[in-house]
Amino acid sequence: MSIISENLNNIKLSLPTDVTLIAVSKTKPVSDLMEAYNAGQRIFGENKIQEMTEKWQEMPKDIEWHMIGHVQTNKIKFMIPYVKLIHGVDSLKLLKEINRLGIKWRKKVNCLLQVSIAQEETKFGLDESELNEILDYIKNDDSATNINVVGLMGMATFTDNQEQIRNEFNYLKCVFDKTQEKNPNFQILSMGMSGDYQIAIECGSTMIRIGSSIFGTR
Ligand SMILES: *Cc1c(COP(=O)(O)O)cnc(C)c1O
Repeated sequence: MSIISENLNNIKLSLPTDVTLIAVSKTKPVSDLMEAYNAGQRIFGENKIQEMTEKWQEMPKDIEWHMIGHVQTNKIKFMIPYVKLIHGVDSLKLLKEINRLGIKWRKKVNCLLQVSIAQEETKFGLDESELNEILDYIKNDDSATNINVVGLMGMATFTDNQEQIRNEFNYLKCVFDKTQEKNPNFQILSMGMSGDYQIAIECGSTMIRIGSSIFGTR
């Protein structure tokens, strides 16, 4: 068995059945992705639209492609035809642009809203007032026809401080629960990466994004 399939199987065995695993394959060659595919993995996460589109063209068509990175607005159109879920929607402007292209392609595009939970300034995400503005748009604007917002996503601070990570994930779970009360469509809470997914699952994550623990360091 290859190291990639071994890693994948070990992680899958440790997961609760209601947690979905995204194999984050950014920067990795198609041959590595195919090893994961042959071991049964069907959901892959990429952070650059061009790289994802090239891999989508080359690989089997029963794969779900998730855009997990910061979205480059001018390239959205390339992924609309096939992308399964966009994790990193972090502005109303971006959501409106996705909606516009969804209308053009006659597709309803699944999205998550990225909430800012980390201390680092460098991490993208919405604060609470921006989140509320978007929720208002989804609910009350008749032109929001071609987006399907199904949950939230967040990234914790990159730190060894487990308690801080736990606090940040707990905060996101609180925001998620509050949001879900008014938006029953919200079913997905995407949080947890290689270094912190166990904590994320304890805090209520339903979708984890794992790269280096499957494919090795980048
Ligand atoms: C790269 C990346 C991951 C995976 O990171 P690992 O630490 O390699 O598991 C998860 N989420 C996002 C948004 C990423 O950019």
